[in-house]
Amino acid sequence: MFDITTRDIKYLQGVGPQRATMLNKELNIYSLRDLLYYFPYKYVDRSRLYYIHEIDGNMPYIQLKGQILSFETVGEGRQRRLVAHFSDGTGVVDLVWFQGIKYLMGRYKAHEDYIVFGKPTVFNGRINVAHPDIDPAKELTLSTMGLQPYYNTTEKMKRAGLNSHALEKLMNNAFALLQGTLPETLSDHLVEKHHLMSLDEALRNIHFPQSPEKLRHAQYRLKFEELFYVQLNILRYTKDRQRKYRGLVFERVGEVFNTFYAQNLPFQLTGAQKRVIKEIRKDMGSGRQMNRLLQGDVGSGKTLVALMSMLIALDNGYQACMMAPTEILAAQHYETIQQLLFGMDVRVELLMGSVKGKKREEILKGLLTGEVQILIGTHAVLEDTVNFTSLGMVVIDEQHRFGVAQRAKLWAKNTCPPHVLVMTATPIPRTLAMTLYGDLDVSVIDELPPGRKPIQTIHQFDNRRASLYAGIRKQIGEGRQVYIVYPLIKESEKIDIKNLEEGYGHICAEFPECKVSKVHGQMKPAEKDAEMQRFVNGETQIMVATTVIEVGVNVPNASVMVIENAERFGLSQLHQLRGRVGRGADQSYCILVTSYKLSEETRKRLEIMVQTNDGFEIAEADLKLRGPGDLEGTQQSGVAFDLKIADIARDGQLLQHVREIAAEIIDKDPTGILPENEVLWRQLQSLRKTNINWAAIS
Ligand code: ADP
Ligand code: MG
Repeated sequence: MFDITTRDIKYLQGVGPQRATMLNKELNIYSLRDLLYYFPYKYVDRSRLYYIHEIDGNMPYIQLKGQILSFETVGEGRQRRLVAHFSDGTGVVDLVWFQGIKYLMGRYKAHEDYIVFGKPTVFNGRINVAHPDIDPAKELTLSTMGLQPYYNTTEKMKRAGLNSHALEKLMNNAFALLQGTLPETLSDHLVEKHHLMSLDEALRNIHFPQSPEKLRHAQYRLKFEELFYVQLNILRYTKDRQRKYRGLVFERVGEVFNTFYAQNLPFQLTGAQKRVIKEIRKDMGSGRQMNRLLQGDVGSGKTLVALMSMLIALDNGYQACMMAPTEILAAQHYETIQQLLFGMDVRVELLMGSVKGKKREEILKGLLTGEVQILIGTHAVLEDTVNFTSLGMVVIDEQHRFGVAQRAKLWAKNTCPPHVLVMTATPIPRTLAMTLYGDLDVSVIDELPPGRKPIQTIHQFDNRRASLYAGIRKQIGEGRQVYIVYPLIKESEKIDIKNLEEGYGHICAEFPECKVSKVHGQMKPAEKDAEMQRFVNGETQIMVATTVIEVGVNVPNASVMVIENAERFGLSQLHQLRGRVGRGADQSYCILVTSYKLSEETRKRLEIMVQTNDGFEIAEADLKLRGPGDLEGTQQSGVAFDLKIADIARDGQLLQHVREIAAEIIDKDPTGILPENEVLWRQLQSLRKTNINWAAIS
């Protein structure tokens, strides 16, 4: 059967080749179907006209019908604005624009009927409407008004006349063309059972709502569908994997683990660490391949959990491998683990790009004979030359630097895939984790080791340097160390280095009594490591750096983190940086330095940082402020976010609900043969074909 919604968009009335190219390029709209799934971002109630004499200062957006009496430009420089005096016979309002004055004067004429739409404010007894929407009254007849859709368009589109209005017309044309009912994309069974609106009715109402009530139903139906297929896709993949791969069974908790626990463990495990280790042990003994995401705020003690999990593999005659994103981190893990295992008969080796020649050969050989029991390293461990005799357990630290494909590569290093523990300090809100890593089980360390003093966070404007430096001097006087971090802009590394160099010069001049380290991304890894090491050893007191120090380094003696231009950092990045201090027993500080001029959103971000140290709270706030697309980690993870209507931050409950429904369907119909589900599997197939990101997860 030919599906009309697959028809090329250029054949739609009002489109043509030129506009089609524009729609392809700017909005990724290629077919009629793509157009129908391009949803409005807001609706405006145009069911009623107001009179000017009704206006008071507290009204939301309203519309007025009347004429412009005259134009006037007032003010100078940045204050320059165009004012149009507009009247409907019951009073006068001032329409005000700060931009595009010339264009607007040419476009609107006095003494013609317009419908003006905007938010009125009352100032000094005069009513203003800033940057209103204006339409000729004859184009917008009241009968077609109601909830009017507004579509996002790009600057390019607007310049070519493809604005929200134009899209609205195209939608109209599309629906006129689609005479019959659009084929349903969910099974009848689901539609009935969950009282969903049909697809046809939902699409019509999402663009042209017949009532607010119907709009709500339409939104629900479309969100349901979107999230449902995301979950069905992930869960089916998980099920397949479980069927295909049996896991290694680690039943024994033996000598190595027990010796470590009894003799080497330097402190009591926190309750959360104990719980997580139990979860991991259970996974490893289940016969299923473990695939677990371990989330724990910075400093929560993930390394220890990783080590103890690896020891279980050793007790069962297998090797373990731990991967970190940078050489500094890998080296640090290596040292920590060597120390923790002191006096025990376990051979641990470190493999990174910089390990070459004889040493490398020796390690590779040891892996094949099984003498090397724990391998710690960077991406270097993924190379084809690195082979194990019996790899049973893989730990990936700071997961967001590694993609799904790399995870898969590690599995291939053994005939039976090893258990995988992925650790991240970027707390991912549960709802997002479910969507992103639906195939991973999640463990959370939600408790810090005892005795930590919460980091005190202070927001300071950059004209208060004297008191900032006095504070730093005091800490250094007490034997502490200090980080000073400058932002990194990708587009212009030159400027970054300039900022950093200037800052470095400044700090050296300000603190002649101190030794100062400097680290940035353009340095060679070996140079960077050496400089970092000087700071770790306490040879330098101040570390001036770009965000290269963001992840994982552990210098317990560092008690101050100064972040310059803090307004240029995202929330989770700020939190990561802050996590570099507060690792020892001393009171630590994080100083966020900004200029005076801050946007509302930035102000909120800084406020959240000052108020809370809780990474999950921050991640939730981040998700709400920025939306999931921007969330650190999602880009690199290989599963980009392209939800058209559902909102991970707000629709968490619905996500949970549809996940359960999808799970039930897969349990009942694991191989996809039940006729009642035919529509679902077909739709899933077609989505996987058109959505590259979906295909990428399997
Ligand atoms: P992260 O979760 O950020 O990787 P680490 O594993 O580096 O954290 O641990 C941070 C610090 O806390 C380390 O110095 C570690 O020795 C210490 N630590 C870990 N677990 C405990 C515990 N149960 N009690 C006290 N200190 C702990
Ligand atoms: Mg760590």
